[in-house]
Amino acid sequence: MYGVEDTIAAISTSLGEGAIGIVRMSGADARRIAGNLFVPVQRRLSWQSHHLYYGHIVEPDTGQTIDEVLVGYMQSPHSYTREDVVEINCHGGIVALRRILHLCLREGARQALPGEFTLRAFLNGRLDLSQAEAVLDIVRAKTDLGLRHAVGQLEGHLSARVKALRARLLDTLAYLTATIDFTEQEIPFRDISPDLAEVRENLRELLRNADRGIIYRQGVKAAIIGRPNVGKSSLLNALLRTNRAIVTPIPGTTRDTIEETLSLDGVPVLLVDTAGLNAQTADMVEQLGIERSRLALQAADVILWVIDGSEPLTEADQAIASLLVDRPALIVVNKIDLPLIAQVNGLLPESRKVYLSALTGAGLPDLERTLLDVVLGTGMTADDAPLVNSLRHKQAIERALNHVAAAAHSYDSGWPADCITIDLAAACDALGEITGEHVSDSLLETIFSNFCIGK
Ligand code: GDP
Repeated sequence: MYGVEDTIAAISTSLGEGAIGIVRMSGADARRIAGNLFVPVQRRLSWQSHHLYYGHIVEPDTGQTIDEVLVGYMQSPHSYTREDVVEINCHGGIVALRRILHLCLREGARQALPGEFTLRAFLNGRLDLSQAEAVLDIVRAKTDLGLRHAVGQLEGHLSARVKALRARLLDTLAYLTATIDFTEQEIPFRDISPDLAEVRENLRELLRNADRGIIYRQGVKAAIIGRPNVGKSSLLNALLRTNRAIVTPIPGTTRDTIEETLSLDGVPVLLVDTAGLNAQTADMVEQLGIERSRLALQAADVILWVIDGSEPLTEADQAIASLLVDRPALIVVNKIDLPLIAQVNGLLPESRKVYLSALTGAGLPDLERTLLDVVLGTGMTADDAPLVNSLRHKQAIERALNHVAAAAHSYDSGWPADCITIDLAAACDALGEITGEHVSDSLLETIFSNFCIGK
C-alpha cells in the first residue's frame, strides 16, 4: 500500500486558521518540485541543507503569487525521514495551504498517507517501531507526565531494554543451534539456565508497571453518577477547579452527559457527568439522557457514585447500589457541610467511601488520593516511570515471556535442543515486533493508520 519511491507531500499542520501552516514534502524529487514553485527573493537559490529561504510560491502557468513563504531544506540523510525534505512555511489559512499542496501534487508529488513521513523514518532506520509509535503519543499526550513518558520512549529507553534482551536470546539461540549441528568436542558446553532465568526476570520487570504505563498514556474514564440534586455537577466543577489542566471540554446541556479531562498527578482522567440515573420521567429528552447515563456507566473504568449525605437514602439510591455491585465504584458522600443523615454504612461493602462537600471543597483532596489509588493501585509515585505504556507492547512482552518460560522448562526437562530453539525463536520474534525488527506489513498498516496525515 505504501510506495517508498514516490515523493510524498502533505499539509503537516492542523487545518484551521493559524499564523503559519506547513506543507511538507519528502523524497528524491522534493527539491525539484519546490524549485518549480518557489521564487526566492534572493534570485540565486543555493539549496544549502538546514537553511531557510525567503520568497514566494508562484503558480508556474499563470505567474500568480499564491503566498509569501519561508522554505526550509533538509538534505538526505539529515532529515526526519532520512530523505530529502522540503518544508514550505506559509500563512496558516486553509486556502493557501491547499493551493500549495495542490501545486506540489501537480508537479509530481503524491499525497502522503496517514503517518507516512514517520513510516519512512522507520523504514529508513532513523526510528525503530516503538520510537515511531512514541511520535504519535507525543502528539496525543494528555498530561505533562504522559508527554515525558512518550519522549522517553522516543529517546529509545524501551527499545534499548528490549533490544538488549533480544540480543541475549539470539545469542543463546545461536549456541543451541550450533550444538545441533556440531559435536560436543567442537562446541564447549554452556549452561543456558541462568541466562534464561535472567531474561525472564527482566521481562517480568518490564511487565510489572505496564498497566500503570498504559493508564498514564490512555487515561481512565470516570463516570459521576447519582440521583438528581445530590451534587454531581457541583462535584465535577469542584474537581476541575482544583485542577488547572483542563483539556477537551465538551459542553452539553444538563440533561446530556458532560465530559472533561483533568490531570490527576499526571493521570488523564476523563470525567463523565451523567444526567440523573434514576429520574422518573416521561420527558423524552430526559429519558435519552438517562439512557446515556447507563451507557456511560458501562464504559467507565471507575464510577464515582454521589450520595446526598444530608438526606436519608431513597429507593433510587438503593436501585443505583444494585447496579454497582462488582463494579469499581467509589462512594462519594456529599454535602458534609450539613448534618450527616444518610445511613451509608452497609452500602457496597467492597467500595471505598469518601466524605466531602462539593460546596466548600472539604474532603476533595481525599477523593483525589482515593481515586488515584483505585486507578493505579497503591504506592505509585511519578518516579516509577513505566517503560511499557501500550497494550501492543505489553502483549508482545507477555508472549515473549511465555516462550522463554517454555524454553526454560524444555531445557530443564532435558529435551533436545531443537525443541528449545523453536520457543526461543518465537520469543525473539515477539520482542522484534516491539522494535520493528520482526514485523508484518499488516501490523505496520495498523499502527500507522492511527496517525494523522502529514505526520
Ligand atoms: P446534580 O443534579 O446531582 O448535578 O446536583 P447539583 O450539582 O446541581 O447540585 C444540586 C444542589 O445541591 C445545588 O443547589 C447545589 O448548590 C447543592 N449542593 C451541591 N453540593 C453541595 C454541598 O456539598 N453542600 C451543600 N450544602 N449543597 C450542595
